Amino acid sequence: MMLAGKVAIITGGARGIGHSTAVKFAAEGAKVAVCDINPELMQQTLAAIRAKGGEAEGYPVDVTKKETLAAMVKAVMAKWGRIDCVVNNAGIVMDAQLKNMTDEQFDKVIDINLKGVYNSTRMVVDIMLAQGSGVILTTSSVVGLYGNFGQTNYAASKFAVIGMTKTWARELGRKGIRAVAVCPGFIRTPILNQMPEEVLKGMEAKVPSGRLGKPEEVANVFAFLASDDASYINGAVISVDGGMTL
Ligand code: NDP
Repeated sequence: MMLAGKVAIITGGARGIGHSTAVKFAAEGAKVAVCDINPELMQQTLAAIRAKGGEAEGYPVDVTKKETLAAMVKAVMAKWGRIDCVVNNAGIVMDAQLKNMTDEQFDKVIDINLKGVYNSTRMVVDIMLAQGSGVILTTSSVVGLYGNFGQTNYAASKFAVIGMTKTWARELGRKGIRAVAVCPGFIRTPILNQMPEEVLKGMEAKVPSGRLGKPEEVANVFAFLASDDASYINGAVISVDGGMTL
């Protein structure tokens, strides 16, 4: 098993890519702290992991509220005594063209998708430094590489987390800590429910692989990146998009 004995925190773990990542990490032997703003939905992830004999605990966390992150990290350290990986995955969209975007829409997306990644990583970095090891994985997006119509706020957040990832790779690499960003293309999860089906069909037509992605296909990449097999991958930005950005 690729992640045997490792302890991983996964934000936004109740559904979508976070759910699949938590299930995959547990299947690979990790002890998983599933964190989400939605504690009821989180139970589904815990049940899926435990049904297969995996080890996981759920923590109600809002990545914009440091006290919830601090409580989770304290509980994880009390239970498992170390943190090998954080997967900064919680994220939202609140789309509007620039001319219609409100300050509230802009600030909310930045708060969760950017400041939330900073908050979560800041909360674990001292522990990783003390261990002399750790992996910081962050979900950016193809939109964080190329921008997208109607997504000023989202693009700003997803470009920014790539900048933080590269900075962390430089700052922390010599301390045994790796930081990597993953850029999924369009993946079939509830976050796409806001997009009309004909727009999704149009997206699909642009993907050389001929289809949208599955959450498990992003989870598999996260699991590899968290493992020691990826020990020389640091500061990288990895696309998981079926070739859509070619
Ligand atoms: P989902 O909406 O399916 O899942 C996101 C999860 O994060 C939800 O459970 C959500 O809870 C939770 N969440 C939202 N806000 C917070 C918060 N403040 N604190 C903690 N948890 C929170 O999204 P995806 O699985 O599709 O996306 C996961 C990540 O991947 C996001 O960062 C997204 O931007 C990125 N991504 C997704 C792509 C896609 O096509 N699906 C493409 C590229 C990137 P709730 O349900 O209550 O909102």
